[in-house]
Amino acid sequence: MDSDHQPVTLPEGGELLHRVGDTLSSLESIPGELRRGEPLAGHTTLQVGGPADGFFLPASVEALVGAVSLCRARDVPYFILGKGSNVLFSDAGYRGLIISTERLSECTLVDDHLRAECGLPLSQLISIANAHGNTSLNFLAGIPGSVGGALAMNAGTGERSIGDVVREVTVLSARGALESLDRAACAFSYRTSSLLESRLPILSATLLLDERRFDRKELLARRAATQPVSEASAGCAFKNPIGRSAGDLIERAGLKGFQVGMARVSDIHANFIINVGGASSNEIYRIIDIVRQKVYKSFHILLDLEIEVVDG
Ligand SMILES: Cc1cc2nc3c(=O)[nH]c(=O)nc-3n(C[C@H](O)[C@H](O)[C@H](O)COP(=O)(O)OP(=O)(O)OC[C@H]3O[C@@H](n4cnc5c(N)ncnc54)[C@H](O)[C@@H]3O)c2cc1C
Repeated sequence: MDSDHQPVTLPEGGELLHRVGDTLSSLESIPGELRRGEPLAGHTTLQVGGPADGFFLPASVEALVGAVSLCRARDVPYFILGKGSNVLFSDAGYRGLIISTERLSECTLVDDHLRAECGLPLSQLISIANAHGNTSLNFLAGIPGSVGGALAMNAGTGERSIGDVVREVTVLSARGALESLDRAACAFSYRTSSLLESRLPILSATLLLDERRFDRKELLARRAATQPVSEASAGCAFKNPIGRSAGDLIERAGLKGFQVGMARVSDIHANFIINVGGASSNEIYRIIDIVRQKVYKSFHILLDLEIEVVDG
């Protein structure tokens, strides 16, 4: 064979990089903003995470669908990011495309429900309901997530979770069609759902406004008194084991105030791992490991992470 026509063998990882590069070029034609090499630390509440090859802010739900379809067709890894309040990216960043829902925040009130796009911050969702005299979504007060992230994680408190007020969720199916899922199909349970398991992009949701009342100010004041709300964190690091409190177990294992580099177990609430300033993802991984090991040694309970670790 003529050497000019021999297939080119790219070094390991080079082929993926090539596909990512092509995909980023094609994205330029989809409405939205594309940033290359965007540091993820600025997009997560833990304030850690290295650069993403591509960081795309779709201008519309249709543009999000276009970006996901492009990645699927080219077999390029992608990750849908809401407010970044429950994720831990690595110091190496992300190989592929981060699709941020930040600009998808339309919301309309129809009768007894709100139809919200996935990127709407929960604080705005609550304010819209409150403006219409309804306080039934106020249980979400103080959770710094988006509607999409909250649905995936089934965010909430001991009293109520977002899954309890879902009428339907619109997702982009694996076959590329828009699909409506009712509450049962979303299989909501403690800090998870079939939406998270399937990793289907959530486009929008219809949430019911009912008669329950929650006092937003009181809930925010309670959080401020019991949680390190002004520190960089991703909320509770671990899920509560059945019948136990993860924070209590960590505190009783003597870890309150324990620090690895600039990552620290909060002195206010032991289930919060905080970045006291310039922590690396590695320091956070290490503190997570140590907490799990010490709690296991003390109580024979293996804590399950609530924070999602995203491999780059
Ligand atoms: C100070 C603080 C307090 C907190 N308190 C609570 C609390 O009381 N209760 C609670 O449950 N959580 C709490 N959290 C955790 C976090 O805020 C919630 O889990 C929140 O719902 C995550 O939303 P997000 O938009 O930030 O999601 P992200 O962190 O951006 O993403 C989380 C997951 O959702 C997926 N996702 C996001 N958007 C979409 C989409 N459109 N389609 C498909 N998947 C999507 C992501 O891919 C990822 O898997 C707290 C966090 C902090 C920092």
